[in-house]
Amino acid sequence: PAADLAATASALAPTNTDANTAESVLRESFGFESFRPGQLPAVQAALSGRDAVVVLPTGGGKSLCYQVPAVVRHRRDEGPTLVVSPLIALMDDQVAALANAGIPAVALHSGKSWSDRDVHRDEARNAALIYASPERLKQAGFRAWLRRLGVCAAAVDEAHCVSEWGHDFRPDYLALDVLKTELGVPVMALTATATLEVMQEVSSRLALCDPEIVRGDFQRPNLSFSVELCTGDIVRTKRCVALLRHAGIGKAGAGRAIVYATTRKRVQAIHKALRQAKIEAGYYHAGRSDNARVSAANAFATGRKPVLVATTAFGMGIDQPDVRLVVHANASGSLAAYYQEAGRAGRDGLAARCTLLYSAGD
Ligand code: ADP
Ligand code: MG
Repeated sequence: PAADLAATASALAPTNTDANTAESVLRESFGFESFRPGQLPAVQAALSGRDAVVVLPTGGGKSLCYQVPAVVRHRRDEGPTLVVSPLIALMDDQVAALANAGIPAVALHSGKSWSDRDVHRDEARNAALIYASPERLKQAGFRAWLRRLGVCAAAVDEAHCVSEWGHDFRPDYLALDVLKTELGVPVMALTATATLEVMQEVSSRLALCDPEIVRGDFQRPNLSFSVELCTGDIVRTKRCVALLRHAGIGKAGAGRAIVYATTRKRVQAIHKALRQAKIEAGYYHAGRSDNARVSAANAFATGRKPVLVATTAFGMGIDQPDVRLVVHANASGSLAAYYQEAGRAGRDGLAARCTLLYSAGD
């Protein structure tokens, strides 16, 4: 029958057709016209089977660096690409976005019930991308299953989590060298932390082999930075209120703001002062219940509460376009951490301000 002939013909056709190139996947599957700086070299490194360390700023488009090659490989029937990601919310967001674009993807993590997991494991067989948490990779049975599935490449997102000296250290990331030593697939490590130490540490801890280094442009021309000497908690709190008022946060079209403070106590004190000043704000720190944190993050994401006062526990993977102001009520733990936190401003490319309040001790 004609249908059978057609199927045979397509099975015999060369798989590396125009429809399978990175450019056409970018356009057809993701709906983007062109690659952003750094993306194409990263994609090419992946497609040539090399390990890579990709350092692009927050918002620079790191996900696409492994998603595009994953789709190309999937179309060529080379098997699924594994993505290791530190946060369940990040995995679920990406899987949902991929599903929207018609790309089969699945997330396997501890947030899923057992019965769900069986369903997802079935889906995984046909997925272009399989997202998994680093804890799962520690299970030998899971790794054996991935091998049987024919996983053809891997990406480690937020790869700086492997660094014990940096921010966001995750002990489970230390075991990710199994991607090279056991699965033996090309690995792409991605991070926004651009220091040489972190890049070298990522490369050696993940056992990468002569990785291609792709480094993007870290300038953020739409952000303006300022520091202000501000001594004493009361003065700092008042200054936070004044900065938010001055930026007009809360008025239509004025966008959102994040206020970072170092301790939970300070977060709550600043939050209280904002409430008293009639500024709609939520607060976020690791000491709150899961529910309270999720609802604070949601109220901020939907714009119902345009200000979020938070410790640095908040922010990884946050992609809100219109954050117009990031205030640090205290200095960050490191310059790299500051770049990450302040970098959440102005992701839409429009002007935004980053203000750091400091005292002599800082
Ligand atoms: P990162 O992980 O580097 O912080 P993301 O991968 O989350 O960045 O991408 C940030 C945003 O940029 C997303 O909304 C994504 O859809 C968009 N984006 C990525 N690449 C492109 C591109 N080539 N053209 C247009 N938009 C892009
Ligand atoms: Mg990212």
